[in-house]
Amino acid sequence: MRQSWHDQFVESPDVLKSDHCQQTVVPMLDFAIGGDDFITMAGPCSVETEFQLMATANHVRRGGARILRGGAFKPRSSPYAFQGHGLDGLKMLAHARQESGLAIVTEVMSEEDVPLVAEYADILQIGSRNMENYALIEAAARSGRPILLKRGMVATIADLLRSAQLVLDNGNPNVILCERGIRTFETALRNTFDVAAIALLKQISHLPIIADPSHAAGHSDLVPSLARIAVAAGADGLIVEVHPNPEKAWSDGEQSLDFAGFDAMMRSIKPYLALREPVLPYRGATAVRAMEAVG
Ligand code: PEP
Ligand code: MN
Repeated sequence: MRQSWHDQFVESPDVLKSDHCQQTVVPMLDFAIGGDDFITMAGPCSVETEFQLMATANHVRRGGARILRGGAFKPRSSPYAFQGHGLDGLKMLAHARQESGLAIVTEVMSEEDVPLVAEYADILQIGSRNMENYALIEAAARSGRPILLKRGMVATIADLLRSAQLVLDNGNPNVILCERGIRTFETALRNTFDVAAIALLKQISHLPIIADPSHAAGHSDLVPSLARIAVAAGADGLIVEVHPNPEKAWSDGEQSLDFAGFDAMMRSIKPYLALREPVLPYRGATAVRAMEAVG
């Protein structure tokens, strides 16, 4: 018997496909996320220097990225590790945006920082560690900027959808979901890439879903493979870490692609992009119940 997803995700009714909404398309500069185009967001884990950011922005733009990523406020596992340049990092991102024409996605970590980060960013990233920080999510939603909502590392799909619903409840329809790997008993890699979550979310939710193969894998040599899997599962885009010299990166160097690696990844996903097709529309709870009644 087919289960009704609306019953399963009863706390997040508005993020699920319905007769009213089959697909959210998030407008961005001169393109959109969740529409026909596959969107690549690329850049360093942390904004380090003008040179590092500009060189990366120019390279990934030439390779087909539309959005530059880079953390100015960094959530680090250790409080003693580099925490980001803060406002100076945002200014570097603004400069890179102006020079490259790329849109900017960057993380906001506290409610108080929302107005400042929203001034500089085209998309506000809510990181994994904050996916259930509802006060932050409400403040970010009310800024009116599109929200990139990364799945928490111990969050279920229901938890992710509940946080997405909260953004909608605060009057902001522009939510982009992000699968970035979860913690499981498997420790060989940094995280376990939950590719089924991408397939499921694509089927049941109208929100765009992107994949972060960098944090999912934790190793740069696995990133192209996970990127291809994400495309095949129906992702609307990627967010991927790229650095001019990963060995010298101030954070997440082991999972960052160098420029040649980024180009190789972009080449390797091309045949998969050619196979992208619209996912069959979800029939909706009413239709399912009607079918069940028929037997
Ligand atoms: C990041 O994007 O650099 C990051 C810290 O991601 P996550 O929140 O998924 O760990
Ligand atoms: Mn990172």
